[in-house]
Amino acid sequence: MIIIMESNSSHEQIENVVNTVKKLGFRPHISYGEEKTIIGVIGDERQLNESLFKSLPGVENVIPILKPYKLVSREFKKESTIINIDGVLIGNGHRVIIAGPCSVENEEQIIKSAKIAKKYGANLLRGGAYKPRTSPYSFQGLGIEGLKLLQKAKQITGLPIVTEVMETSEVEEVAEFADVLQIGTRNMQNYRLLKAVGKINKPVLLKRGMSATLQEFLMSAEYILSEGNYNVILCERGIRTFVDYTRNTLDLNVIPAVKKLSHLPIIVDPSHGTGKRDFVIPLSLAAIAAGADGIIVEMHPEPNKSISDADQTISPEQFAELMSKIKALENLIKSWG
Ligand code: PEP
Ligand code: MN
Repeated sequence: MIIIMESNSSHEQIENVVNTVKKLGFRPHISYGEEKTIIGVIGDERQLNESLFKSLPGVENVIPILKPYKLVSREFKKESTIINIDGVLIGNGHRVIIAGPCSVENEEQIIKSAKIAKKYGANLLRGGAYKPRTSPYSFQGLGIEGLKLLQKAKQITGLPIVTEVMETSEVEEVAEFADVLQIGTRNMQNYRLLKAVGKINKPVLLKRGMSATLQEFLMSAEYILSEGNYNVILCERGIRTFVDYTRNTLDLNVIPAVKKLSHLPIIVDPSHGTGKRDFVIPLSLAAIAAGADGIIVEMHPEPNKSISDADQTISPEQFAELMSKIKALENLIKSWG
C-alpha cells in the first residue's frame, strides 16, 4: 500500500502517518518527490485497511499495491529513476555504455582496456576481480589485487568502476573500490547478499538470474530497495532456453516490460546474452532500439587472449564500430520525435 500525501502537507502530518504505520506493526518507506511525499507501507497488506489512513490529516490518497514487489513498482513511483554513478547519470533518457574485460587479468590489460573504453566513449569501466566460474579449476579472479588495479584504471581515465561482489563478507571491501556493485546471475537469489548490498549507499547492478522470471527478478531488486538502497540498475543478460547455438537467449522483451512495471533503469548485456563476439553489435543495437538505458559489453585489447569469456569478448575495433553505430542509431531514434 502507498499513501500519497497532499502537496502542501506539513512535516507533522507526515510524521503522524509514519508513526501510525509503525504502531500498526508495518514499516514505512518515505519518498520525498518533487511535488508530493509518498509513504510506502511495507508488510503483510492483507491486515491493512485503506480507511485507517484515508482519514488522517494531510493524506490525499491511499493506493493498495497488489503486486508482490512494492518499492520497485511504477505504482509506488511514477517517474523513472535516475541514478548518479559518481557523476554519470543513468535512467529516464540518460543511457550508459559499460565496457571492459570479463576479468581483470593484470595491470597492462586493465589500463589498456580502460583507455580504449574511454577513447571511444564508454561511460563506465567493467572488470571482474572476483569471478563466479563454472569450474573450480578456472581462473577465479585476482581478488583485492584486481580491485586495486581497477582503482588505478579509474585514476588514469576517470571512468567509474563496475565490478562483481560474490560474498556478503566482501561487500564492504568491494564497495571501497567500486562505483557500482554487480550482483551476478548466479547470485540473483542470494538473499543475504541482496540484503547486504541494500545496506550500503553505492549503486547496484543486479543481473537477471539465468532462469528467473520477471517477477522473481523484480522481487530480488525489492530485497535491495527494502533495505534502503534505492539505486538499483537491472540487467538482462540472457536466459536459459532450448536454444543451444547461442550461450543464452537474450530476452529483450523484458525491456518494455520492466519499463511498464518498474521505475528502475534496465540495461542489457549482449556478451553473456549471446556468448558470441560477432553477435554483440547487432544485439546491442537491438537493445538500445528497444529502449534499454544502456549496455554492458566485454571488450579486451586482445580478445583471443582473454582468460575468461574470450568467445564473447569484442576487440577494440569492434567496440569503436559499436559506439559509432549506437550514435547513428540514437540520432535516428531522436528523429522519430
Ligand atoms: C560477468 O559479468 O562477467 C558475469 C559473470 O556475468 P553473469 O553473472 O551475467 O554471468
Ligand atoms: Mn564474463
